[in-house]
Amino acid sequence: MNFKTLDQIDFAGKTALVRVDINVPFENGQVSDFTRIDAVLPTIRDIAAAGGKVVLLAHFGRPKGKVVPEMSLRQVQPALEARLGQPVAFAEDCIGKPAKDAVSALKPGEVLLLENTRFHAGEEKNDKMLAAGLAALGDVYVNDAFSAAHRAHASTEGIAKLLPSCAGRLMEAELTALDAALGNPQRPVVAVVGGAKVSTKLDLLGNLITKVDALVIGGGMANTFLAAMGQPVGTSLCEHDLADTAREIITKAKAVGCKLVLPVDLVVAREFKAHADHQIVTECPADAMILDAGPASVEQIADIFSGSRTLIWNGPLGAFELEPFDTATNSAARKAAELTRAGTLVSVAGGGDTVAALNRAGAAQDFTYISTAGGAFLEWMEGKELPGVAALEAE
Ligand code: AMP
Repeated sequence: MNFKTLDQIDFAGKTALVRVDINVPFENGQVSDFTRIDAVLPTIRDIAAAGGKVVLLAHFGRPKGKVVPEMSLRQVQPALEARLGQPVAFAEDCIGKPAKDAVSALKPGEVLLLENTRFHAGEEKNDKMLAAGLAALGDVYVNDAFSAAHRAHASTEGIAKLLPSCAGRLMEAELTALDAALGNPQRPVVAVVGGAKVSTKLDLLGNLITKVDALVIGGGMANTFLAAMGQPVGTSLCEHDLADTAREIITKAKAVGCKLVLPVDLVVAREFKAHADHQIVTECPADAMILDAGPASVEQIADIFSGSRTLIWNGPLGAFELEPFDTATNSAARKAAELTRAGTLVSVAGGGDTVAALNRAGAAQDFTYISTAGGAFLEWMEGKELPGVAALEAE
């Protein structure tokens, strides 16, 4: 990885355009989760402390190129001020006179939030004019929105080509953690891929088998693999039409020396609901569905974790929202947390339901790194180039 960080830029007296992800959830008119806001505070504070003027660029919701008052970032301004502990000015447009006037009024150490970049159709089209309009407002571009880096938008990619650019603290932390997990990991590396369907994670599986030493497949997608190997799956969630694809993945994994790990025992029930009557079996009955991996499978996974130096995890091992079918996910997550605490495992997780599943297990805080980025984390795990990151590296 080759990108500049905040430490390599002199911000004194300069205006820094900082792309952040503060697309926070609201409940009853109030921000209901501050995670994303808190995550960008170190970058804002460091630039302000270095005497820079901080101008925040961000999107909010999906206004699709129109001004939608319900998606105004003005609503996020009070929460940002409260978490930051200093005033945050606001401009009613991210380009043009309102933005220019607000930037001119800024003094070193002060912070300005610009209106939703997606109110302009040019944002998602990576329009050169919009990127130029944004770039005209400042001296330096800082990207701290890893979660938006898989999109080539004017505020994530186009602008980076027009100004000296660097990664913010959150972006730097994400990229460092991801590099330690898949770029230059300590081996052996084990990946856990769970979740509902193989079809949504084909690229992920294809990339991982070439990079990791063991790949644990769990959740609904394991059923597709079991069925492809001729095992009964009853009424389980299963993509029978992907049997050939699953067999190809098995063959390819063998060829490249990646150990594929599938459940050796199963927790089955007749209903998809919490506390449904359930059994532990090695073969799924015709009228039952697989909802979790069994205890022997968990033991096998724990052994693999113990023999690994690096773990990368996406997706639950079972229907984790329904007790007790969260057992395998919880046990494996706690084992990973324990090994991480002991210093023998570097553990990185992210994407979709994974963060929720690890939080439920009470394991998230012990992981080495939990990525809060959904789509960007998955695309990175798939081995795809992220335009927002590539633009920083091209500097
Ligand atoms: P994903 O979004 O692909 O990571 O999938 C997560 C979803 O997969 C969660 O809602 C889980 O409940 C679901 N899931 C995991 N294992 C199973 C299973 N064996 N049967 C049905 N759904 C499952």
